[in-house]
Parts: sequence; C-alpha cells; structure tokens
Amino acid sequence: MDRRDFLAALGGKFAKKQEERAIAINSMECLAWNDVMCYSCKDSCGKNAIDFFASFRPTINSNCDNCGDCASSCPVGAIK
Ligand code: SF4
Ligand code: SF4
Repeated sequence: MDRRDFLAALGGKFAKKQEERAIAINSMECLAWNDVMCYSCKDSCGKNAIDFFASFRPTINSNCDNCGDCASSCPVGAIK
C-alpha cells in the first residue's frame, strides 16, 4: 500500500467514525413519535436542524452539526 492508498483508507475510517457518531432520535423513546407533544429538542437547537411533521415525528436534517444540545434537553433521553 503506498502513501496515497494509506491516507485514503484512513480518511474512509475517519468518515465512518464520524457517521457512526451522528446524533439520532430514537423513535421508540421519543414522546413526539408516540403522540405526545414535545418540542424541547427543537427549541434547544440553534441550527434549525429538527423538522416536525404535522407537530409530531421529529427528524434531524442536514443542518445538524452534532453539537449535542438537543440530547441534553430531551426529557426522556431519546437523542443519542
Ligand atoms: S445535535 Fe445540535 S445541531 Fe444537531 S439537531 Fe441537536 S441541537 Fe441541533
Ligand atoms: S425532546 Fe426528546 S421526546 Fe421531545 S420531541 Fe425531541 S426527541 Fe422527542
């Protein structure tokens, strides 16, 4: 493996690690995915990175930079 291949492989590993660490909402635990109104995560997100579908079913959009602010505001710990 030459230097370029080595760096490409390393970059791939790093990208995978970043992807694995991406913040996500667990729909089984989330109140709004279970018909209870809750906007704590959306209110705490300064990047407008959480979309709600008709007041429920929040999903994280591409504005998210994985800062983690929403995770600490979730009352049931549904964001990791
Ligand atoms: S991790 Fe940060 S940017 Fe992403 S949705 Fe949560 S608060 Fe918003
Ligand atoms: S704060 Fe937690 S429970 Fe509330 S909508 Fe967001 S992820 Fe769901």
